[in-house]
Amino acid sequence: MSKVIEKIKEEEDVEKEVKKKRKKSFQTVRGMRDILPKDQPYWQKLRKVIEKTASDYNYDRIDMPVLESREMFERGTGKTTDIVEKEMFKFKTKGGDDVCLRPEGTPSAVRAYLQHGMQSKQKPAKLFYSGQMYRYDRPQEGRYREFFQFGFEAIGEQDAILDAQLIQLAVRVFQSVGLKNISLQLNSIGCKECRPKYNKLLVSYFNNRKKALCMDCKKRLKKNPLRILDCKEEKCIQVVFQAPQTVDHLCDNCRSHFTMLLESLDEIDIPYVINPQLVRGLDYYSKTVFEFFPECGEDETQSALGGGGRYDYLVENLGGPETPGVGFACGMDRIVLEMMKQNTKPYIAPTPKVYMVQLGDLAKKKSLRIFDDLERSGVMVAESFGKKNLKSQLRLANQKKVSIVLILGQREALDETVILKDMESGSQEVITFKKIVEEVKKRLKKSAEIASKKAKKEQEARKKLKKA
Ligand code: AMP
Repeated sequence: MSKVIEKIKEEEDVEKEVKKKRKKSFQTVRGMRDILPKDQPYWQKLRKVIEKTASDYNYDRIDMPVLESREMFERGTGKTTDIVEKEMFKFKTKGGDDVCLRPEGTPSAVRAYLQHGMQSKQKPAKLFYSGQMYRYDRPQEGRYREFFQFGFEAIGEQDAILDAQLIQLAVRVFQSVGLKNISLQLNSIGCKECRPKYNKLLVSYFNNRKKALCMDCKKRLKKNPLRILDCKEEKCIQVVFQAPQTVDHLCDNCRSHFTMLLESLDEIDIPYVINPQLVRGLDYYSKTVFEFFPECGEDETQSALGGGGRYDYLVENLGGPETPGVGFACGMDRIVLEMMKQNTKPYIAPTPKVYMVQLGDLAKKKSLRIFDDLERSGVMVAESFGKKNLKSQLRLANQKKVSIVLILGQREALDETVILKDMESGSQEVITFKKIVEEVKKRLKKSAEIASKKAKKEQEARKKLKKA
C-alpha cells in the first residue's frame, strides 16, 4: 500500500471514530419526560393557580425531599398496596439506608408535621406542596414513571367541613385553570369501629365467589378485602357489583360525618356521585374518600385527575399522637393534558416592550449595563447581543412588536448616549445614559395609557354592535 493510501485510510479511521462518538446521543429514561418550553405556559398557569388558591385558603407551602425512608411508605401508604409493593423505586444508599423515591406526598407531609413539631402550632396545620413523584408504572399517555403532583393536607381536625372545604378548593383549582365538566365521586369507607365488621361481611361475600376473582384479588381477600372493590379486572367488576356497600354499614359517627360532608357540598352547589366501589388504592384512608374525573373520559379509572380523603390514623401510624387528617393530591401532568384537550387559555407571559440594538464591541459592553439598569427598574428588555448586523437586529425588534428600540453604536458608546427610536411614531431622539431609564419608563407609561384607552373604545364599540 502506498504511503498516500495509508495516510488516507488513517484519516478515514479517525473520522469514523469521531463520527461514532458523535452518534452516541442520549434519550430520557423510560417513563421519564422533558416538559418543553412550548408546554410551559400551561404548567405555569396551573402553578400560578395552585399558589393563588393556596394563599386564598390559607395553606402554607412545604417542600419535602424526593428521597425518603422506604419504611415510611410501607407503614404509611401500606405494604400491600400496588404503589408500595409493585411500583416503588427503592434502593440502598452507600451507607446502607433503605430509601425510595417518593411515590406520593402525604406520608412525607405527615413526617414533616411530626418532625418539626407542627402539632404544637396552629390547628389544623394546613400544608400544600407540588413536585415530582415516582412510580414504576407502565408508561402511557397520562401515566409516567416520573410525574408531578400537587397536594393539600389539613392535619389536626376531625370536622367534615374540612373535607368539604378541601373538595371546594380542588374544584376551585380546576375551574381557575379553565377546566369544565370535572366530576366528583365520593364514598365513605368507615373507621376502626365499623370497618372490621364490614370487612367480615365482604370476606364472606367474596369467599363464596372466590373462583370468579382474579389472582390479585384472591390475595387481597386475605390481606385487604376492601381493595377488591377497586379492582379493574372485568371478571372482578362483575362480582363487586353485588357486594355489600360500605355506606350501608357505617357506624353512627361515620354516617353523620358523611352526611355532614354531603350536606356541605349541597350547600356550596358542588355536584357529586356516590360511588360505593371507590376505596382508593392507599391503606391509610378512613371515612371520606373522593376522586375527580374529566367527564367523558373513555376509561375513567385511567384518567383520574386527583383524589384524596381522610386519614385519621396516619399520624399515629407514623409515630405521632392520635391526630386526624384530610387531604388530596392531583396529577399535574394529567391536568395539563386535560387543559390542552379542552383548549383552555394558557398563561401569557408579559413580553418586553423595549429592544436593545448594539453595534461594535464597546457598544455591546455598554449595552449590558443599560440592559441591567432597565431590568432593575422593572423594564423588560429584549436583545440579541450575539448579533452584529443592524438590519437583522431591527428585524427581530419588529418581530417582537416592541414600542421602543434603543440603538447604541460606536459613536453613542463613546458619547455615553443612546438613540431612542419610537416604533409607533417612527421618531428618533438622542438620550444620555443617565436619563435613559427615566425616559423609557415615561414613554412606556404613555403608550400603555394610549393602548388602554384604545382597548376601552374598542370594547364599547363591540358592546354597541352587540346591542344593535
Ligand atoms: P393517587 O393518590 O395515586 O390517586 O394519585 C393522585 C393523582 O396523581 C391521580 O389521580 C393522577 O392524576 C396522578 N397520578 C398518579 N399516578 C400517576 C402516574 N403514574 N402518572 C401521571 N399521573 C399520575
